[in-house]
Amino acid sequence: MSFKFHPPLYLICLILTVALGQVSLAQIGPNLGHTDRWMKAAKAAIERTDYKTANSIFRNMIDSGQPLPEEMPYFFAETLFQLEQYDNSSNFLNKYLELNGFTGEYYKAAQELQQRLESPLREILDCQLCDRRGYRFKTCFTCHGDRQLEQDCHYCKGKGVVGCSRCSGSGMITKVNIFKIVEYYECDRCHGKGRLTCPVCEGNLKEVSSCETCRGSGKLSSEVICNHEEESHDHEL
Ligand SMILES: [Zn+2]
Ligand SMILES: [Zn+2]
Ligand SMILES: [Zn+2]
Ligand SMILES: [Zn+2]
Repeated sequence: MSFKFHPPLYLICLILTVALGQVSLAQIGPNLGHTDRWMKAAKAAIERTDYKTANSIFRNMIDSGQPLPEEMPYFFAETLFQLEQYDNSSNFLNKYLELNGFTGEYYKAAQELQQRLESPLREILDCQLCDRRGYRFKTCFTCHGDRQLEQDCHYCKGKGVVGCSRCSGSGMITKVNIFKIVEYYECDRCHGKGRLTCPVCEGNLKEVSSCETCRGSGKLSSEVICNHEEESHDHEL
């Protein structure tokens, strides 16, 4: 029974496909032309090992927000590899494989790049001198590497005293006696002062707490790609 319906259904599908195809071509046609030109320029730059130029073309392509050619993540990954941005390279390579699978035109080349990435990525993981993207750490400018800082006490805001919570800062406590008469007593917690020595800084006004700039690590990532080698002291002087 269902076989009978195939020809008309197929025809409808065909007409729809053609119609939709024309619409989408009309919409993205000019954009694709643009990115195609960029893609050609980037490939030419790679050809002459001008990876810096290729890098900026690829970044312009991304910034433009236009649809990217499916081969783009592979070529960008290769460019980033050459510029020693291994973590970023790996991200774009994974993107390429994710989008194109093993049917992609550059599947073999992508696999080969994946193998070349293994060793530099392992070096980054093993190195204590750089972050997990491979950028060299620098000493935190806020705590100068001390990881913690003496700051105004956060609890009393550097005043050294806080209001007594039992008497709400009045120094007096009221009680209603059996004759329903309100009696006033001196607050025994603050001895009538209405204030207490700050329980956090104990009146020192300061507290030592972990540095917020570096989240207590003493170091920050820099823009410098790490060579995984300890800097010599001669160099620092
Ligand atoms: Zn710090
Ligand atoms: Zn009190
Ligand atoms: Zn305090
Ligand atoms: Zn390193």
